[in-house]
Amino acid sequence: MSSKYPGPEEEDYKPVILHEYFHVYQHGNLSIPELPDTDGDWRTSNRNVYFNGGEVQVPFLMEGGAEYMAQYRYSKEAGVDAGYLKRVMEYKAESIKPYFNTGKSLRELGYDEEFNSYDILTWFVAYLVHNTSEETFRIDFWTQIEDLGFEEAFKSNFGKSADEMIAEFDTWVAQPIDVLLEIIP
Ligand SMILES: [Zn+2]
Repeated sequence: MSSKYPGPEEEDYKPVILHEYFHVYQHGNLSIPELPDTDGDWRTSNRNVYFNGGEVQVPFLMEGGAEYMAQYRYSKEAGVDAGYLKRVMEYKAESIKPYFNTGKSLRELGYDEEFNSYDILTWFVAYLVHNTSEETFRIDFWTQIEDLGFEEAFKSNFGKSADEMIAEFDTWVAQPIDVLLEIIP
C-alpha cells in the first residue's frame, strides 16, 4: 500500500482493503507463473503480458478495476450514505484534465504520472460498468481473460476493442462533470 493511500486510522482505509482484495481476485484469475528475470518486482510481472504485450506493468484495468470495485462495494455497505460514490467519483474527476495533458492512452499511463492515474482509470471502469454491468466486468471479463486473451475478452464483453473503447471514453469524459456523474449509481 503506497503513501498515496490513507492510514489505517482513517475511514478511507476500508475501501483500501477492498481494493487490495480485488487484486487477489484478479491475480487468482491470471494464474501464470512469474518470469525468472523479474527479480520479484511486481511492476514487471509477466501478468502484464495480458494487457499490453509487454512486461513493464501499467495500472490500467488492474488498478482501475480494483479501485472502482472497491469504492462500489464500499458504497453499498450498511451505514454508508447514498451520495458516497458520486462524491468519490467527483473527486477523482480532477484527474481528467491532467490525463488529457499527458497525451497518453489510458493503457499506457504509468504508476508515476504527475497525477493519480488510478483516478482516471477508475472513471474508465465506471464507464464500462455503466455500458454493460458490474457482473460483466467483475465475473465475465475477468474469468475469460486467461482463456481468450485480453483483446478478445474485452471485445466479447464490452462490444468493441479496448482502443476503440478508450477513444469513445475520451470523447465522453470531456463532458461537464454533472453529465459524467449521471452514470454513477
Ligand atoms: Zn492497487
